[in-house]
Amino acid sequence: MTIFEEVKELVDVPTAARHYGVELHRGNMALCPFHMERHPSCKLYDDHYYCFGCQAHGDVIKLVQELFGLKPIEAVKQLNSDFGLGLDVDKPPDMEAVNRRRREIAERKAEKARVEHMYDVLLRYFTLLDKYRMLYVPTSPDEETDKRFVYALQNIGYAEYLLETFNRTDVVGQQEIKMEVDRIEREYKRILDEWGE
Ligand SMILES: [Zn+2]
Repeated sequence: MTIFEEVKELVDVPTAARHYGVELHRGNMALCPFHMERHPSCKLYDDHYYCFGCQAHGDVIKLVQELFGLKPIEAVKQLNSDFGLGLDVDKPPDMEAVNRRRREIAERKAEKARVEHMYDVLLRYFTLLDKYRMLYVPTSPDEETDKRFVYALQNIGYAEYLLETFNRTDVVGQQEIKMEVDRIEREYKRILDEWGE
């Protein structure tokens, strides 16, 4: 693994762009730093960028080269120091340290995916109950109350509480309600199978 590959693995394009003052909009679109424009047309992916306006493109090293007018190795040195990567640019990389950092990056990504999934579960559950509550509200006093309506009334407060707790807390707090979210996921599947949307 070369120092170039290593830097690319450690710093993704959106993170570097943001660090150097490129403002990110929806869907990781940015005002292109390489041509004048009023609407963002430069798309930032994790491992590269591409401008639909001027066709500028490249990886994180190219981005830094173009932003600051540097040679590739200078861009690597700049990323190394700006992001505190601690790489020895003049020596071949220590593979053990590289692998350790790789694992850390993989773990962070997996963690992020887990948290996103939990939020998704809570939001889908809340949305379904909200739908039941609106859709099956009794319209006359002698009508038998729909069980979906009853269920929604009984559980929506708690669903909302979980969503708020989840949004307010940090990753540690989110992990603490993991078991409850798992239960909600099973419950969501159960009522969806039984009653539909
Ligand atoms: Zn452009």
